[in-house]
Amino acid sequence: MKSGTTARTRESPLELDADEFRAIGHALIDRLAEFLETMPNGPVTHDASPASLRPLLGPAHLPDQGEPADRLVAEATELLIEHSLFNGHPRFWGFITSSAAPIGALADLLGAAINPNLGGWILAPIASEIERRTIRWIAELTGFPTDCGGLLVSGGNMANLIGFWVGRRVKTPWNLRESGYDERRVTARVYASRETHTWVEKAVDLSGLGTNAIRWIEPRHQRMDPDALRRQIEADRHDGVLPMLVVGTAGTVSTGAIDPLPEIAQLCREYGLWFHVDGAYGAPAAALPESPDDLKALSMADSLAIDPHKWLYAPLEAGCALVRDPALLRDTFSFHPPYYPDQQEATDDAPIYYHEFGPQNSRGFRALKVWLGLRQAGRDGLVTLIRDDIALAHRMFALVEDHDELEAVTLGLSIATFRYVPRDVSPDAESSRDYLDALNREILERMQKGGEAFVSNAVIEGRYLLRACIVNFRTDAIDVEALIDLVVRLGREVHSELSQRQAAPVP
Ligand SMILES: *Cc1c(COP(=O)(O)O)cnc(C)c1O
Repeated sequence: MKSGTTARTRESPLELDADEFRAIGHALIDRLAEFLETMPNGPVTHDASPASLRPLLGPAHLPDQGEPADRLVAEATELLIEHSLFNGHPRFWGFITSSAAPIGALADLLGAAINPNLGGWILAPIASEIERRTIRWIAELTGFPTDCGGLLVSGGNMANLIGFWVGRRVKTPWNLRESGYDERRVTARVYASRETHTWVEKAVDLSGLGTNAIRWIEPRHQRMDPDALRRQIEADRHDGVLPMLVVGTAGTVSTGAIDPLPEIAQLCREYGLWFHVDGAYGAPAAALPESPDDLKALSMADSLAIDPHKWLYAPLEAGCALVRDPALLRDTFSFHPPYYPDQQEATDDAPIYYHEFGPQNSRGFRALKVWLGLRQAGRDGLVTLIRDDIALAHRMFALVEDHDELEAVTLGLSIATFRYVPRDVSPDAESSRDYLDALNREILERMQKGGEAFVSNAVIEGRYLLRACIVNFRTDAIDVEALIDLVVRLGREVHSELSQRQAAPVP
């Protein structure tokens, strides 16, 4: 009897044949090209609430029957175009979220279509080599040693965590992997300026050290004070606790301040501490020849975090962790269960197994969008973009300084902070403090809802400020000028409403 079949007959509700894929893909790309062309002329965002959005999503329960892919993709495209905040808009300067290079969107489509698993070289031969090359280039760009270890992760928080975990492993004087913290309770200490991003709190919490392990060093002008750091380390050594790791920040999240990295590096050497640099935002600016030495000294770090989805303009998500000594990175994360290929020596020519370099097992192809973006711009192109972003922030700051209803406060890298101060309110009087906070809070709320431009806020020395961070290759001088007009217009409007309310007789 003859057995077996000669053709595939299985029906799949998820397959798309070549014609369907082509038709849906072409329609999607056409719509996205139109979106990218018109988006800069429309609003940054639309006012929305969870209650206004949920009814748009169709069935509340998982449907039993599937639907045709062409209709679903078309519907999802319109849903996203009509109800998103566009951080690619030339007037978006909130938080530290960049415009994404369109080549990154194409890279993600390509990467997902091929779908390599970058946990292991054998599952992703060319993709693993692309990640290895990308890591090397990021090191090269920022001036970090190119024979470092590193990998791409979801973002700055994860990249910082990787550096933190390696430092903790290396600087704990017993076998932390086997014994954990149970057997010997030496209290480890982590040193960070108060301006450090909140990842450090997650790091000590999730590592079992507890948030009391952080020694907050009071900053001076938003920068870590190395004398205060030394005093604290000395005091801790005297008390018999274990100074372990210092975090220096290359571009703080609030004001773009750069910690005195050379002095911190020196202290870490002197006391044998791990030197981790959070360059999630600012590290790419080290590529500029004119960058300050404080920033370039990130090359002295034991570990460095960089966010390609910030100042390398990659679409979310892409963070990058670099560790000076690749063996220490591997030691921290590598285990060898029998269902993985035999361990090879980690030479430059050996296949690389990225599951040994971080907490993830299966891994996506983040490297493709970063690699293609770096190739499209080249070093010169990137340096020009970053330099222009910084110049635009300077221009914004200068316009604020020139306006008698605006008060300029800080300028660091491409972040400017300022506030609206009406002509009839004194900025320095204690009595006007709460009023100016409330006024600027309301200006920000109206701006974020209004869609003309988008900034976020900072709180510096107790004052509530507007904060614009330009990591946006679409921003031009006219956009920056428009922000000044918008803040003054909103400021006058809110001030007139608030002062009328205050002047109104109490009923
Ligand atoms: C943005 C940022 C982070 C966090 O990075 P994510 O990519 O949002 O996880 C950490 N540190 C600094 C200095 C940052 O600017």
